[in-house]
Amino acid sequence: MSLDFTHVTLGQRVLFGAGKAAEHVAAEVARLGTKKVMVIADERELELAHEVANLIDVATWHTEVVMHVPIEVAQRARRVASDNAIDLMVSVGGGSTTGLAKAIALTSGIPIIAVPTTYAGSEATNVWGLTENERKTTGTDDKVLPLTVIYDSELTLSLPVAMSVASGLNGLAHCVDSLWGPKADPINAALAAEGIHALNQGLPMIVEDPSSIEGRDLALYGAYLSAVSFSSAGSGIHHKLCHILGGTFNLPHAQTHAAVLPYVLAFNAPHAPEAETRMAAAFGADTALAGLQRLRTLLDAPRALADYGFTAEGIPTVVEQALAIIPDNNPCEVTADNLTELLTAALNGEDPASIGQHIPAATAAHV
Ligand code: NAD
Repeated sequence: MSLDFTHVTLGQRVLFGAGKAAEHVAAEVARLGTKKVMVIADERELELAHEVANLIDVATWHTEVVMHVPIEVAQRARRVASDNAIDLMVSVGGGSTTGLAKAIALTSGIPIIAVPTTYAGSEATNVWGLTENERKTTGTDDKVLPLTVIYDSELTLSLPVAMSVASGLNGLAHCVDSLWGPKADPINAALAAEGIHALNQGLPMIVEDPSSIEGRDLALYGAYLSAVSFSSAGSGIHHKLCHILGGTFNLPHAQTHAAVLPYVLAFNAPHAPEAETRMAAAFGADTALAGLQRLRTLLDAPRALADYGFTAEGIPTVVEQALAIIPDNNPCEVTADNLTELLTAALNGEDPASIGQHIPAATAAHV
């Protein structure tokens, strides 16, 4: 088979090392020669942020962090940055914290050093998200891509096991969705497969021993790969559904991804044989779904959207919004009926094996 594709690799420095965040941040601040640093961290991660910023001068601390970045929160943070003539941001936290830094960068161009403390992967994408009037808008802009990412698995030791699992499965969802995203290509697929492999190894180690640096390192490494592949491939059906569920119904991001993933996999994989083979190999399982389900059992993963406050009344809204944005290249035909079936199964935590078998493959026009 001949290869014919266009791939863009986003440029970032990645400094990885357990216990080295403060040293790495100080080295990056010195290298960049910036003078006025704003550290962004949720109150809950403030202690971690103080450790991370221990060796630098901080002009401003900003702690108003809200999931899915409501526009008012972004506007207040943008004002703080401009009132203080900030020329560098250091974000210490999960995707919500990185997301706030990105919202500031979007309108100001102020560079970001991202120090992630979850496995959300936002630090390695040029995707921003803002929520206004209960609707989450996302977009891509290279201005929001952090200049440097500093991974220190010691900062994730405090992440509770349940959140580690949900967040790690959010990373895994990036890998899976990048195999059929609108700009899926063989380079993304290679990164995604290695991401699945790393997360499949690392997450069970964390569940067995939450203080396992090896497990935490593998999860961060997998999270990075997942985000790089996702950033290049673009949002597929999984991310389109989850961003509506998060933005319109305010469901928790990582848990929503974790709960929906098996249903999207069951929906698409029978119609995406190359992706299926790659994922099954990365999981070391007979099929991708068997591999994912084995991992989910080991992790006691989030199961049903109903557990997070979603109800059947919300399904028509998700279907309507999703049909308008699901990429045309999805491997199988997406209809109001089959999306309703997928979401109903995810709502109730039904066996995903029943999804997808009877859905026709995409017509030639969709492939
Ligand atoms: P989060 O950042 O909201 O963190 C979840 C919870 O974990 C919070 O309560 C936080 O205080 C806590 N926490 C974080 N790190 C901790 C630690 N080390 N120890 C103890 N507690 C800790 O959640 P998230 O899942 O990381 O990120 C979700 C947000 O990120 C969503 O808004 C999502 O849209 C966005 N996101 C964006 C991208 C992108 O590419 N733009 C990618 C992934 C996620």
